[in-house]
Amino acid sequence: PTPQRKKLVAGNWKMHGSRAMADKLVRDIVEDLPDGTDVLVFPPDVYLAGMVDRYGDRGLGLGAQNLSEHHVQGAFTGEISGAMLYDVGARWVLTGHSERRQYQHESDELVAKKFDSARQAGLTPILCVGETKEEHEAGQAEAVIARQLGAVLEHNSIEVFREAVIAYEPVWAIGTGLTATPEKAQKIHAFIRSQLAKKDVNISLLTRVIYGGSVKPANAAELFAQPDVDGGLIGGAALVASDFLDICAAAR
Ligand code: PGA
Repeated sequence: PTPQRKKLVAGNWKMHGSRAMADKLVRDIVEDLPDGTDVLVFPPDVYLAGMVDRYGDRGLGLGAQNLSEHHVQGAFTGEISGAMLYDVGARWVLTGHSERRQYQHESDELVAKKFDSARQAGLTPILCVGETKEEHEAGQAEAVIARQLGAVLEHNSIEVFREAVIAYEPVWAIGTGLTATPEKAQKIHAFIRSQLAKKDVNISLLTRVIYGGSVKPANAAELFAQPDVDGGLIGGAALVASDFLDICAAAR
């Protein structure tokens, strides 16, 4: 029998908001958290500690959008370590988001290091993978994802995916309104699971693989109904409490 994977919906706020906006948004979210779904929010780092202090005991998971690859403190100006994030109450962290791969030139290798640092600090990483528009059009989606996943598995045992989450985010679908069809998402999610299964079938059945890229209240239910889609990573729609909560409700 296939193990039941608990659905997970995460809001990636990116570089949006203000202290007042962040406080109001989280307050509205914790008022209406659904049962039976893991709900996480990834605000900008500067707001994290305050949110943990005010709302950390309300059942909402909090995490950071990035961390340093260095896990020991040192002379790394501008960097924030996984241990510091853990210290202020974060329990999750995004690694390998396509915007960081693109704008901060994060390589597969660096993402693998950050993934490892996250785990060493006690944070649960969400590893983001996905192909660009050009790669999509060239039919390279699966090859790109296998490479991105392979870089992490090269440095980590498959055991890490008992906890860690994978987010499939086709770059052409992020912030564009061009959501992957449920069939397309399902096909890639099944591919990701098959890559894990090559190492360990049981773990491949436990790992949550969530979808990101223009998830909205109107398309969430269809996506989350796919057998290998275990929830979503939400950008734009996570900035509006009612939309985000509707998406969380669709994960049941
Ligand atoms: P989007 O972003 O929902 O605005 O497309 C998703 C993401 O980048 O995580």
